[in-house]
Amino acid sequence: MKTESVVTLPGMGDAEFRGLGGSSAHFSRDVGVQWVLQPRGTARVRGPQHFRHSVREGVRLSDYEHVLGSDRDALKQLFPAGVARLWGSTPPVRERSAKVTALEERRVGDEVLFYAGKKFVAKARILGLLRNRPLAKAVWGEDEDRQTWEHIMALGDVTEFELPAEPVLRELRVPVPLRSLTLVHAEERRRLLEMSDPAMSSRPERSSPRPERVPTLNREALFRSLSSLKTHIKDERPSRHKPITLLWAIGRLAAQQERMVGWETFRGEVAPLLQDFGLPDSKVTPEYPFWHLRSSGLWSVEGIDQSSTPTPSQLAASRARAGLTADAARVLRRSLARAEAIGLLCSRYLGDVDRDELLERVGLAGYTRASGEQPDSGRRGGSAPRRPVTSSQPDRDQRLVEQIKVMYGHECQVCGSRVETRYSHYSEAAHIRGLGRPHEGPDELANLLCLCPNHHVEFDRLAIYIDEDWAVRRNSTGVVEYQLKLHADHVVEQEYLRYHRGLCGRL
Ligand SMILES: [Zn+2]
Repeated sequence: MKTESVVTLPGMGDAEFRGLGGSSAHFSRDVGVQWVLQPRGTARVRGPQHFRHSVREGVRLSDYEHVLGSDRDALKQLFPAGVARLWGSTPPVRERSAKVTALEERRVGDEVLFYAGKKFVAKARILGLLRNRPLAKAVWGEDEDRQTWEHIMALGDVTEFELPAEPVLRELRVPVPLRSLTLVHAEERRRLLEMSDPAMSSRPERSSPRPERVPTLNREALFRSLSSLKTHIKDERPSRHKPITLLWAIGRLAAQQERMVGWETFRGEVAPLLQDFGLPDSKVTPEYPFWHLRSSGLWSVEGIDQSSTPTPSQLAASRARAGLTADAARVLRRSLARAEAIGLLCSRYLGDVDRDELLERVGLAGYTRASGEQPDSGRRGGSAPRRPVTSSQPDRDQRLVEQIKVMYGHECQVCGSRVETRYSHYSEAAHIRGLGRPHEGPDELANLLCLCPNHHVEFDRLAIYIDEDWAVRRNSTGVVEYQLKLHADHVVEQEYLRYHRGLCGRL
């Protein structure tokens, strides 16, 4: 069945680069792209850190010159700019296992899906396969059993995203969580692509070369549009109609409601929001955002075609519909992009609004807190005291909670203080990206902080955030107040801090 050929390049020694150089001609047509399901690894094995280092950023080949050995030429050919994206696996322990099959049958051109915290978090294309223990040791070190990640994949086309992995794994009858390198054959992959997100299928198939489809709107373009909305200025204050309408539309998306909405429904839902959250003395004119949001490039109107702003009765008569464009909706279906968009709209256009209230009204209440929706947040203004934020998290692993607190000796990673109780100490474990809806963050050390109660509340309610250099900044001013304290054994994943900054409107 196997039709792969082994290509040996001049100057290559023992290592084999199978099918190097995108040589699709070496494969028969019916083989097709396979999936390699690759656990990214937990914080305990420094998975997030390794991913950041050797996949997201890539390693400089010149730093590893001394260990490249006979793979040097091939790697330099694959990565002419000198930065290589690599991931590896330890040799399998058992003779017959999913891992053995995957290591033997994966091929150049296959797609790797990285898995972490019940999600697929990235995909990449295999450009080359090699076995190089010295290189693996230099890049990722050794584990407790002196094993290295010597079965190395050279990767290209790295794309990060987030997709729930469970439906796919269940369909494949692979245990959740994914623990082992697992190969999915081409046929099965094709079948599963039909039930998955576009993020997983946007790449062209190797067997049918066609020009890469360029998406008409990517994340960057979406954020450029969101940050430059043309808003009507009244008495030097920009109208809030457009940003409020966009939040409403994002709320519909989050609730998986229809993207395009008829005028009557739109007016019924948006007019009260404009009334309650618009500028105090501005007229409530939902027909303006319904029609004029088109200039943002993120909004489409169907069913009516005219050059001047239609009146409400014209809109009603024409049965016009409006909503986010399909492209904008595609980007905003991903939770990180959604968090960023909500944060941006709130901080840029809605500074004086009670944003907690507004977000609750449009069904986005969970985004006002890093921890997400609270079970007891339904009643507002009640006198019942809130439970501590730590206790309302779903399914959190209590051992991790203890581990982080002990690691820091109950000292707050922000201010260094420690609450002394009569018999012991008190601290709180805070998830950076909340476990609850809508954030669905992972329960792992890389996503946890040890905080004092005050800083926990400030972090959770988005009053402070942590920047890329680990400085703790006040969100209202951007001023650095502290430097985050980090234990040598604690790898905090920047990706989660970035998500939190998105909620803070700080991206
Ligand atoms: Zn503190």
